[in-house]
Amino acid sequence: MILHIDMDAFFAAVEQRDNPALRHKPVIVAGNSKRSVVSTASYEARKFGIRSAMPVYEAKLRCAGLIIVPGNMGKYRADSKKIMSILAGFSPLVEQVSIDEAFVDITGCGRLFGSPEDMGRAIKNKIQAGLSLTSSIGIAPIKFLAKIASDMNKPDGLTLITPAEAPRVLAALPIQKVPGVGQAAMKQMNILNIRCLGDIQKFSLPLLTRKFGKWPHLFELSGGIDPTPVETGHIRKSISSETTLSRDVSDFETLKGILLDRAQTVGRDLRAKQLVCETVFIKLKFSDFTQVTRSKTLDTPVSSSAAIFNEALGLYRKIELQRKIRLAGVGVSSLKDKTRPVQMQLLGEEKKPEMRWACVDKAVDSIMEKFGGNMIQKAALKELSDEGGYDDTKHSNQGMDTLP
Ligand SMILES: [Mg+2]
Repeated sequence: MILHIDMDAFFAAVEQRDNPALRHKPVIVAGNSKRSVVSTASYEARKFGIRSAMPVYEAKLRCAGLIIVPGNMGKYRADSKKIMSILAGFSPLVEQVSIDEAFVDITGCGRLFGSPEDMGRAIKNKIQAGLSLTSSIGIAPIKFLAKIASDMNKPDGLTLITPAEAPRVLAALPIQKVPGVGQAAMKQMNILNIRCLGDIQKFSLPLLTRKFGKWPHLFELSGGIDPTPVETGHIRKSISSETTLSRDVSDFETLKGILLDRAQTVGRDLRAKQLVCETVFIKLKFSDFTQVTRSKTLDTPVSSSAAIFNEALGLYRKIELQRKIRLAGVGVSSLKDKTRPVQMQLLGEEKKPEMRWACVDKAVDSIMEKFGGNMIQKAALKELSDEGGYDDTKHSNQGMDTLP
């Protein structure tokens, strides 16, 4: 059995816990620029239709008495760590999927902690007692169903889907709730009149695969098969950083500067964790809130800011810009341990730009570590920040990593 835990309105709940004046009030955690978006909304704020990722100005329009609190990632990370160590006390198989979310494989823990339900309740109680925060737990025989279950009775919920109930729940599951089904897939599903996961079983796998490549996975899920194990590997799946711009921009030089800045942040994070990446991706959100992401898989793993920047820039150049950009981000994935052997090229190794940049990065990283902030910047970026061209960063790892 797999248990999925998701903290309720995590950032907002932490703020309400630490400041009694915020309790029972509509609160959002968000940046202070007028272009910021809601990071987390308290349940009181959600009553007004306020949701994560909604622009703050819109949230304000929906609720006159809305209280906006700036986030404190250091505090949230510290609480996250405590929560994860509580989970580790119940099972050695814990996979953290974001700052406030984790899967726990509880198979075989029965002798120590009783039924899955008892165990779920014990975890919730321990978190409540230790951190004064509520959480929602879902327990099911497969991973993705556990995640769906944790969402069923939020907040402060505990939902158990037994192996006997699983087929019925799966068949009736609205297709938009299935992870990996986006807008484009939804359109195709509507054409085929697929509304629930169970409807997929009406089609043959070869037909679905021919039409839509990634369907074998959905087909398996619809049959109750989810072979993905709870992964305890402590390597994050990706690192990314993005900036919401203080004004929509379309000029190349400004965006280049932002990509450079984000690439440096990501590169620094990557190197600090002794990792290298095999994939670089970029994300752009346009003035009309549509967004694109593009990625490239590299022949050789890299970790220098310059290499990440160059790949990001290459990806950016290939995107046809029809609208102005309001958010730009750079990320890396397919992360590998730096200490693992890496295929080396036989000739001219010392002359490779990646090797030379490694020396620059090392020097910059150590200065940043000692003095912090913007002690040192690439010259191209200096001009940009002097202009005050953009809002400061929203360093985001949301929903992407396994461990902060
Ligand atoms: Mg949550």
